[in-house]
Amino acid sequence: MLIVKNLRKKYKDFLALKGISYEIKEGEIFGILGPNGAGKSTMIKILTCFHKPTSGTVEINKISIKEKDKIKQLIGWVPQEETFYTNLTVKENIEYFGSLYNISRKEIKSRSEEILKLLQIENKTNSLAGSLSGGMKRRLSLAIALIHNPKIIYLDEPTAGVDPVSRRALWEIIKKIKQKNITILFCTHYLDEAELLCDRIAILRSGEIIAIDTPAKLKKKYKTLEEAFIKLVKYENRKTS
Ligand code: ADP
Ligand code: MG
Repeated sequence: MLIVKNLRKKYKDFLALKGISYEIKEGEIFGILGPNGAGKSTMIKILTCFHKPTSGTVEINKISIKEKDKIKQLIGWVPQEETFYTNLTVKENIEYFGSLYNISRKEIKSRSEEILKLLQIENKTNSLAGSLSGGMKRRLSLAIALIHNPKIIYLDEPTAGVDPVSRRALWEIIKKIKQKNITILFCTHYLDEAELLCDRIAILRSGEIIAIDTPAKLKKKYKTLEEAFIKLVKYENRKTS
Protein backbone atom coordinates (compact mmCIF):
# COMPACT_ATOMS: atom_id res chain seq x y z
CA MET A 1 0.00 0.00 0.00
CA LEU A 2 2.96 2.34 0.61
CA ILE A 3 5.61 2.55 -2.10
CA VAL A 4 8.76 4.60 -1.57
CA LYS A 5 11.10 4.94 -4.54
CA ASN A 6 14.60 6.46 -4.66
CA LEU A 7 13.84 8.99 -1.95
CA ARG A 8 16.54 11.64 -1.50
CA LYS A 9 16.63 14.60 0.84
CA LYS A 10 19.27 17.26 0.83
CA TYR A 11 19.58 19.88 3.59
CA LYS A 12 21.77 22.53 1.89
CA ASP A 13 24.96 20.52 1.13
CA PHE A 14 24.13 17.58 3.38
CA LEU A 15 22.49 14.50 1.89
CA ALA A 16 20.32 13.11 4.74
CA LEU A 17 18.57 10.46 2.58
CA LYS A 18 20.56 8.91 -0.24
CA GLY A 19 17.91 7.27 -2.38
CA ILE A 20 15.88 4.85 -0.26
CA SER A 21 13.26 2.45 -1.64
CA TYR A 22 10.85 0.02 0.01
CA GLU A 23 7.26 -1.17 -0.10
CA ILE A 24 4.87 -1.84 2.79
CA LYS A 25 1.92 -4.17 2.49
CA GLU A 26 -1.48 -3.41 3.97
CA GLY A 27 -1.78 -4.48 7.61
CA GLU A 28 1.97 -4.86 8.05
CA ILE A 29 4.09 -3.44 10.86
CA PHE A 30 7.24 -2.18 9.16
CA GLY A 31 10.15 -1.01 11.29
CA ILE A 32 12.91 1.38 10.36
CA LEU A 33 15.80 0.62 12.65
CA GLY A 34 18.69 3.03 12.75
CA PRO A 35 21.08 4.91 15.04
CA ASN A 36 20.67 8.61 15.82
CA GLY A 37 21.17 10.77 12.77
CA ALA A 38 20.41 7.94 10.32
CA GLY A 39 17.59 9.94 8.70
CA LYS A 40 14.55 8.30 10.32
CA SER A 41 12.74 11.51 11.25
CA THR A 42 13.65 13.11 7.92
CA MET A 43 12.00 10.19 6.14
CA ILE A 44 8.85 10.38 8.26
CA LYS A 45 8.61 14.14 7.72
CA ILE A 46 8.58 13.50 3.97
CA LEU A 47 5.97 10.74 4.25
CA THR A 48 3.73 13.11 6.23
CA CYS A 49 4.12 15.92 3.64
CA PHE A 50 5.89 18.06 6.24
CA HIS A 51 9.09 18.23 4.15
CA LYS A 52 9.42 18.01 0.37
CA PRO A 53 11.79 15.36 -0.94
CA THR A 54 14.72 16.54 -3.08
CA SER A 55 13.87 13.71 -5.46
CA GLY A 56 12.06 10.38 -5.52
CA THR A 57 8.42 9.39 -5.12
CA VAL A 58 6.07 8.17 -2.40
CA GLU A 59 2.62 6.70 -3.05
CA ILE A 60 -0.12 5.41 -0.77
CA ASN A 61 -2.65 3.27 -2.60
CA LYS A 62 -1.42 4.87 -5.83
CA ILE A 63 -1.93 8.42 -4.52
CA SER A 64 1.24 10.55 -4.65
CA ILE A 65 2.33 12.53 -1.57
CA LYS A 66 2.13 15.56 -3.86
CA GLU A 67 -1.64 15.31 -3.34
CA LYS A 68 -1.31 16.60 0.19
CA ASP A 69 -5.01 16.92 1.07
CA LYS A 70 -5.81 13.36 0.02
CA ILE A 71 -2.71 11.94 1.71
CA LYS A 72 -3.48 13.70 5.00
CA GLN A 73 -6.81 11.84 5.24
CA LEU A 74 -5.00 8.52 4.86
CA ILE A 75 -2.17 8.98 7.35
CA GLY A 76 -1.70 9.51 11.07
CA TRP A 77 1.56 10.76 12.58
CA VAL A 78 3.03 10.47 16.05
CA PRO A 79 6.04 12.81 15.94
CA GLN A 80 9.14 12.33 18.08
CA GLU A 81 8.19 15.33 20.22
CA GLU A 82 4.74 15.78 21.77
CA THR A 83 2.66 18.25 19.79
CA PHE A 84 -0.59 18.40 21.75
CA TYR A 85 -1.71 21.27 24.01
CA THR A 86 -0.54 20.70 27.58
CA ASN A 87 -3.18 23.06 29.01
CA LEU A 88 -6.10 21.21 27.39
CA THR A 89 -7.52 17.94 28.72
CA VAL A 90 -7.07 14.62 26.94
CA LYS A 91 -10.60 14.80 25.57
CA GLU A 92 -10.27 18.44 24.47
CA ASN A 93 -7.04 17.65 22.63
CA ILE A 94 -8.56 14.69 20.78
CA GLU A 95 -11.66 16.66 19.85
CA TYR A 96 -9.64 19.67 18.76
CA PHE A 97 -7.36 17.64 16.46
CA GLY A 98 -10.39 15.75 15.17
CA SER A 99 -12.03 19.06 14.23
CA LEU A 100 -9.14 19.79 11.85
CA TYR A 101 -10.42 17.00 9.62
CA ASN A 102 -13.62 16.97 7.68
CA ILE A 103 -15.61 14.88 10.21
CA SER A 104 -18.80 15.66 12.08
CA ARG A 105 -18.83 16.43 15.82
CA LYS A 106 -20.92 13.33 16.37
CA GLU A 107 -18.39 11.14 14.64
CA ILE A 108 -15.49 12.76 16.50
CA LYS A 109 -17.28 11.97 19.79
CA SER A 110 -17.91 8.32 18.97
CA ARG A 111 -14.44 7.78 17.44
CA SER A 112 -12.82 9.44 20.42
CA GLU A 113 -14.67 7.13 22.85
CA GLU A 114 -13.62 4.09 20.82
CA ILE A 115 -9.97 5.21 20.70
CA LEU A 116 -9.80 6.10 24.40
CA LYS A 117 -10.95 2.57 25.11
CA LEU A 118 -8.55 0.95 22.64
CA LEU A 119 -5.63 2.85 24.14
CA GLN A 120 -6.84 2.36 27.71
CA ILE A 121 -6.89 6.02 28.66
CA GLU A 122 -10.60 6.34 29.46
CA ASN A 123 -9.81 7.16 33.07
CA LYS A 124 -7.63 10.11 31.96
CA THR A 125 -10.27 11.70 29.71
CA ASN A 126 -10.57 14.85 31.83
CA SER A 127 -6.96 15.11 32.96
CA LEU A 128 -4.81 17.96 31.70
CA ALA A 129 -2.50 16.62 29.00
CA GLY A 130 0.48 18.33 30.64
CA SER A 131 -0.07 16.40 33.87
CA LEU A 132 0.14 12.93 32.26
CA SER A 133 3.05 10.50 32.72
CA GLY A 134 5.42 9.88 29.80
CA GLY A 135 3.65 6.69 28.74
CA MET A 136 0.22 8.31 28.88
CA LYS A 137 1.45 11.28 26.84
CA ARG A 138 2.54 8.85 24.12
CA ARG A 139 -0.90 7.23 24.21
CA LEU A 140 -2.54 10.61 23.80
CA SER A 141 -0.33 11.30 20.78
CA LEU A 142 -1.42 7.94 19.36
CA ALA A 143 -5.08 8.76 20.01
CA ILE A 144 -4.70 12.04 18.11
CA ALA A 145 -3.04 10.21 15.21
CA LEU A 146 -5.98 7.79 15.00
CA ILE A 147 -8.94 10.20 15.28
CA HIS A 148 -9.67 10.48 11.53
CA ASN A 149 -9.48 6.71 10.94
CA PRO A 150 -6.22 6.66 8.93
CA LYS A 151 -5.13 3.70 6.81
CA ILE A 152 -1.50 3.96 7.90
CA ILE A 153 0.21 5.53 10.91
CA TYR A 154 3.81 6.69 11.25
CA LEU A 155 5.35 6.43 14.70
CA ASP A 156 8.65 8.21 15.29
CA GLU A 157 10.43 6.51 18.21
CA PRO A 158 7.14 5.94 20.07
CA THR A 159 8.72 4.55 23.23
CA ALA A 160 11.80 6.77 23.56
CA GLY A 161 12.20 8.04 27.12
CA VAL A 162 9.32 5.92 28.47
CA ASP A 163 9.78 3.62 31.50
CA PRO A 164 9.99 -0.18 30.88
CA VAL A 165 6.50 -0.97 32.16
CA SER A 166 4.89 1.73 30.03
CA ARG A 167 6.96 0.59 27.04
CA ARG A 168 5.47 -2.89 27.29
CA ALA A 169 1.99 -1.43 27.57
CA LEU A 170 2.66 0.61 24.43
CA TRP A 171 3.77 -2.52 22.58
CA GLU A 172 0.46 -4.19 23.44
CA ILE A 173 -1.39 -1.13 22.19
CA ILE A 174 0.56 -1.12 18.92
CA LYS A 175 -0.41 -4.79 18.42
CA LYS A 176 -4.06 -3.91 19.05
CA ILE A 177 -3.90 -1.14 16.45
CA LYS A 178 -2.52 -3.66 13.96
CA GLN A 179 -5.50 -5.92 14.68
CA LYS A 180 -7.72 -3.08 13.45
CA ASN A 181 -5.97 -3.57 10.10
CA ILE A 182 -4.16 -0.24 10.29
CA THR A 183 -0.75 -0.39 8.61
CA ILE A 184 2.06 0.80 10.87
CA LEU A 185 5.47 2.20 10.04
CA PHE A 186 7.63 2.95 13.01
CA CYS A 187 11.14 4.15 13.59
CA THR A 188 13.20 3.05 16.52
CA HIS A 189 16.73 2.42 17.67
CA TYR A 190 15.53 -0.27 20.12
CA LEU A 191 16.23 -3.75 18.78
CA ASP A 192 13.91 -5.54 21.21
CA GLU A 193 10.79 -3.73 20.12
CA ALA A 194 11.68 -3.98 16.43
CA GLU A 195 12.05 -7.74 16.81
CA LEU A 196 8.89 -8.17 18.84
CA LEU A 197 6.56 -5.99 16.81
CA CYS A 198 7.72 -5.84 13.21
CA ASP A 199 6.76 -8.08 10.32
CA ARG A 200 9.73 -6.66 8.44
CA ILE A 201 12.61 -4.36 9.31
CA ALA A 202 14.74 -2.01 7.24
CA ILE A 203 18.07 -1.02 8.73
CA LEU A 204 18.85 2.59 7.95
CA ARG A 205 22.32 4.04 8.27
CA SER A 206 23.54 7.46 7.13
CA GLY A 207 20.56 7.87 4.86
CA GLU A 208 20.80 4.45 3.20
CA ILE A 209 18.89 1.22 3.72
CA ILE A 210 21.57 -1.41 4.20
CA ALA A 211 19.33 -4.42 4.92
CA ILE A 212 15.65 -5.21 4.68
CA ASP A 213 14.06 -8.47 5.83
CA THR A 214 11.93 -10.21 8.45
CA PRO A 215 13.36 -10.22 12.00
CA ALA A 216 13.59 -14.04 11.77
CA LYS A 217 15.68 -13.97 8.60
CA LEU A 218 17.93 -11.21 9.89
CA LYS A 219 18.44 -13.25 13.06
CA LYS A 220 19.17 -16.42 11.12
CA LYS A 221 21.84 -14.62 9.15
CA TYR A 222 23.42 -12.78 12.09
CA LYS A 223 22.39 -14.93 15.13
CA THR A 224 20.76 -12.02 16.90
CA LEU A 225 19.21 -8.84 15.66
CA GLU A 226 21.73 -6.92 17.76
CA GLU A 227 24.54 -8.65 15.91
CA ALA A 228 22.91 -7.82 12.57
CA PHE A 229 22.52 -4.19 13.56
CA ILE A 230 26.07 -3.79 14.87
CA LYS A 231 27.69 -5.69 11.99
CA LEU A 232 25.81 -3.88 9.30
CA VAL A 233 26.29 -0.47 10.85
CA LYS A 234 30.01 -1.10 11.53
CA TYR A 235 30.59 -2.48 8.06
CA GLU A 236 29.05 0.57 6.54
CA ASN A 237 31.16 2.76 8.82
CA ARG A 238 34.32 1.17 7.42
CA LYS A 239 33.14 1.53 3.88
CA THR A 240 32.43 5.23 4.22
CA SER A 241 35.41 6.27 6.37
P1 ADP B 1 17.18 10.38 13.04
O1 ADP B 1 15.74 10.69 13.20
O2 ADP B 1 17.46 9.06 12.44
O3 ADP B 1 17.95 10.57 14.33
P2 ADP B 1 17.21 12.80 11.42
O4 ADP B 1 16.36 12.54 10.24
O5 ADP B 1 16.65 13.63 12.51
O6 ADP B 1 17.79 11.44 11.99
O7 ADP B 1 18.55 13.50 10.92
C1 ADP B 1 19.36 12.95 9.88
C2 ADP B 1 20.51 13.89 9.59
O8 ADP B 1 20.01 15.07 8.97
C3 ADP B 1 21.26 14.34 10.82
O9 ADP B 1 22.64 14.41 10.51
C4 ADP B 1 20.69 15.72 11.11
O10 ADP B 1 21.64 16.53 11.73
C5 ADP B 1 20.34 16.22 9.71
N1 ADP B 1 19.18 17.12 9.72
C6 ADP B 1 17.94 16.81 10.18
N2 ADP B 1 17.09 17.85 10.02
C7 ADP B 1 17.83 18.84 9.46
C8 ADP B 1 17.54 20.19 9.04
N3 ADP B 1 16.30 20.71 9.17
N4 ADP B 1 18.54 20.91 8.51
C9 ADP B 1 19.78 20.39 8.36
N5 ADP B 1 20.13 19.15 8.71
C10 ADP B 1 19.17 18.37 9.27
MG1 MG C 1 14.59 11.12 14.85
